[in-house]
Amino acid sequence: MYAVSRSLIQNGFDVRRVDVECHLSSGLPSFKISGLPSTAIKESRERVRAAIKNSGFEFPRRRITVNLAPANLPKYGTHLDLAIAISILKASKQIRIDFATDFYVLGELNLQGRLSSSAQCLNLVLGCMQQNSLSKFIIPSDLSSQISEIDISAIVLKQLVCIKRIKHFNHNHKLSDQRIEPKLKDSDLFSDILNQYSALRALQISLAGHHHLLLVGPPGCGKSLIADKLRNLPKLLDENESWQSKRLFSMSSQLNKASDKELPVRCPHHSASTKGIIGGGRPIIPGEVSLSHRGYLILDELPEFKREVLESLRQVMQSHSVNLSHGFEKATLPAVTTILANMNPCPCGYYNSNFAGSVCRCLPQQVHNYQSRISGPLLDRFNMSICMEVDDSIKNQPAVSNLKDYWSAVFRARSVQKLRYKKNLKSSTAFTTYFNGQVAENDFQKITGLRPGRFSKPYNLMISNRKHSQLLRIAQTIADLNDSHVIQEHFDEALYLQQYTQNDVRSSRRGIK
Ligand SMILES: [Zn+2]
Repeated sequence: MYAVSRSLIQNGFDVRRVDVECHLSSGLPSFKISGLPSTAIKESRERVRAAIKNSGFEFPRRRITVNLAPANLPKYGTHLDLAIAISILKASKQIRIDFATDFYVLGELNLQGRLSSSAQCLNLVLGCMQQNSLSKFIIPSDLSSQISEIDISAIVLKQLVCIKRIKHFNHNHKLSDQRIEPKLKDSDLFSDILNQYSALRALQISLAGHHHLLLVGPPGCGKSLIADKLRNLPKLLDENESWQSKRLFSMSSQLNKASDKELPVRCPHHSASTKGIIGGGRPIIPGEVSLSHRGYLILDELPEFKREVLESLRQVMQSHSVNLSHGFEKATLPAVTTILANMNPCPCGYYNSNFAGSVCRCLPQQVHNYQSRISGPLLDRFNMSICMEVDDSIKNQPAVSNLKDYWSAVFRARSVQKLRYKKNLKSSTAFTTYFNGQVAENDFQKITGLRPGRFSKPYNLMISNRKHSQLLRIAQTIADLNDSHVIQEHFDEALYLQQYTQNDVRSSRRGIK
């Protein structure tokens, strides 16, 4: 006797269909699961056996073989419990639901037969819908509350016993791409940041065009305060971006505490491992760069991070994706994140500082060693770097005089960019981005017409093509903030926002000689 039901598994960022086959044969009673199940799936034998008995069904006293096809893909998670139970009940002719093969069945069973969702379920449903919008599901009731905003074709079950009462139905839905309705969560945001005009201007440009930003300054100048403000930003994501973020959180078995459409902001401790930041393991789970997908990754005290972590960020900052590999498992996860990092200029924090009464007590060698922890190529990838100062001789003024204008420019610039790139970029995947700081170099040059060499004539710039392109990208964002075309003035401002460069390291090296 044979029966089959369908479920889903994660394969990197993709979602794959799994056929849960069941064959009952004569012989000594046994229950085996084949098809590379993980330990959690092997343990489901006990859960399924007890759940079937406690739901008023009979557990077949036969030789039971359950196969998870395709058999060569490793399977993880406990969400296959319900599909296994349905296959067994169908094979033993205790239920006669023919449509089970048209549905993707998800849910974990407890011993009483009660259903619950596992962490992966949200990602599986959303991923499947994005790949095939006509999918239908049988899901646990607690998952339905998480996806209440999407109208999906789903039978919602609380207990296994309810499977007897299933009737057919019809309903279809696609994830819609709605326009964002920006609203300020905290109208006093930034009102306590005084005098740091350059830093907040750079942050505005970064928020508008997703440019990586490095803040350098002495202790107490407000670097961490600015980073903290990112947690209270208005809702800037559209619906699709918000669901992508939720999928990645679901893959890592975490709940996204941020409300819908808020930029995900992650702030890992500097002792984090490469695997924690980049992702990996078996099964492959996303790291902080992917959890901050479409949002910000804050790296507080940048030089304190491990060297290998910093170097591995270089590829992510450029390509906005991570290629992970563990044994024969491989995955490419989206990591369209923007990095906001801050650091002191030296171990004591007061190197080159004008702050009255503060003198740098570090030896030149110490300053050099400290600054050298950030390699040249990594520094080069920060689109803007601001040297913040504490000057007690200046009267304190809020750095942003009109918060409404500040944010409306950000919203306008984001909409302008989305319109510009959506019109010209054909594909729309989790890896596609529509911001000046993130689009691929070819697309940027083709769509905006800005090529390295533009606007640089007044200067004798000794910089790489990459840096030149970054300057043009920032100039484009400044133009978008002003709702105008790029002019020399915008390029000049972009150049002004490159305040901390390797010159500082070189000057400290000169100090050694
Ligand atoms: Zn110092």
